Amino acid sequence: MTYNSFKILFVILTLAIAFLGWQGAISWLWIIGIILFGVAILSYGSATLQSNFFTPTFSKLKEPNELILTFDDGPHPNTLAILEVLKKHQAPATFFCIGKQAQQHPDILNQIISEGHIVGNHTQNHSNKWGWMRSKAVRYEIEEATKNLESLSGKPIHFFRPPFGVTNPRIGKVLRTLPLKIIGWDLRSLDTTIKNPEKLWQRIKPKLNNSSIILFHDTQEHTVEVLEKTLEYCQSHGIKIVSLADKIETPSHA
Ligand SMILES: [Zn+2]
Repeated sequence: MTYNSFKILFVILTLAIAFLGWQGAISWLWIIGIILFGVAILSYGSATLQSNFFTPTFSKLKEPNELILTFDDGPHPNTLAILEVLKKHQAPATFFCIGKQAQQHPDILNQIISEGHIVGNHTQNHSNKWGWMRSKAVRYEIEEATKNLESLSGKPIHFFRPPFGVTNPRIGKVLRTLPLKIIGWDLRSLDTTIKNPEKLWQRIKPKLNNSSIILFHDTQEHTVEVLEKTLEYCQSHGIKIVSLADKIETPSHA
């Protein structure tokens, strides 16, 4: 279901319940039920990027035995250790970078690019207020990051990942006007929450055979060790690490 089809369904259900309530056929408590249903669907759509509720999102792979590596929230001094592991295994990755971080670490941003990886937009400030921002602020966060990432790296930016994977009608509306592909994930490592590398590895390992887009954070020190294990596992189990650029057509860069 998308936001537009939900709106139509919600209006029809509300009118039907209002009519039946007016006729005395059902209790007015149904109105509370339909409101709770609406809130639940909107909350799910906001928090679940792969539901494609507010904006079409690339979050799944079709072919078996493949893995796309994505890293959020850098560039960060720890990104260098991540890059070293990727280089050792000749594995391509996409880094969703924060504009502000890129301004602080332009050399690391350029190393990501020169080692053949993709840089995507993860907003200028990664604000905790992302889900509550007005359209103008949402647009600024995205456009400012694109401007800074492009001028620092000299490469066009084609991909975007919203902070926390959160979208809503305002964010969806702004994204529809921008030449960016929205990239989600279907395997969340939870590396910002699970700090024990062994526990983290045990969480990820059983899910690696499902052909996933995995979400890591290059800001996390213990992610380096788990990445190493992930790449060794993929190598020994015939899982190919593929690049986002091989799977998705890049939009024309206006
Ligand atoms: Zn993030």
